[in-house]
Amino acid sequence: MAGLKSYRRRRPRRASPSVMRSGNRSGSGNGPELEAAQDAVKAGLKNATKGVACKNRSRLRMKTLKVKPVRIADDDGSNKTGKADMSVTKRVFKKAAIDVQEISETVLKKTSYKEMSHLGKEAKKDLWKDVASTDHAALVTVETFNDGSKVGRKVTGGGYTWNNARAGMAMMVHDGGSWLAAHELGHAVGGKHSHQTDKSGNNTVMKPTGDPDVAGTENVSKKLGRVWRRHGLTKGRGAKVCPDYSD
Ligand SMILES: [Zn+2]
Repeated sequence: MAGLKSYRRRRPRRASPSVMRSGNRSGSGNGPELEAAQDAVKAGLKNATKGVACKNRSRLRMKTLKVKPVRIADDDGSNKTGKADMSVTKRVFKKAAIDVQEISETVLKKTSYKEMSHLGKEAKKDLWKDVASTDHAALVTVETFNDGSKVGRKVTGGGYTWNNARAGMAMMVHDGGSWLAAHELGHAVGGKHSHQTDKSGNNTVMKPTGDPDVAGTENVSKKLGRVWRRHGLTKGRGAKVCPDYSD
């Protein structure tokens, strides 16, 4: 290389102070420099190993998301809706270094809440007033949804969620699958259907299946994880862990 040659011509007899420039190909007469180079390689390997352990992604402080199951009973307290299974939710959020903690359930005695309208806002407004909290997300299990003309457990895919920057209320049919709870809680802390694929084109948990009995993927993209972790309901700074993002 011309640059290197001219450098050497100007100062032909002086050892370069830099390991990179020393060109120590012979391995002789440069003891301290060789040692320094070996140390640098060792340090580089150590850092590289750290990266591999975290799949080349930076470590994150574990955060916590509390979720309160909310079950709906008839006005007289009978016939409570079932409680959602949160096993998939816990697995999915852990990928974004969020520990989901289920807290004590609430039972609301109000028959009219058992059927939520996908369109009308009145019932949902009342429900929001009853369950919205900046401390925890609510996971409300209802019996059916309606969109005006149709009524059933598969209307609006069996789930519907309201949220703002500090609170979230996920609603789902009580006999829906465990994956649906993860998808709806994903909405509750800011996830949108526009987050349904990651940079690599893989689907994420925010891609709806449209059917409460059909599970989608449990992938979480980096972008989606960031949205969840920024939401007011995910709190705290725990131990550092590796996220498990799909992109
Ligand atoms: Zn959705």
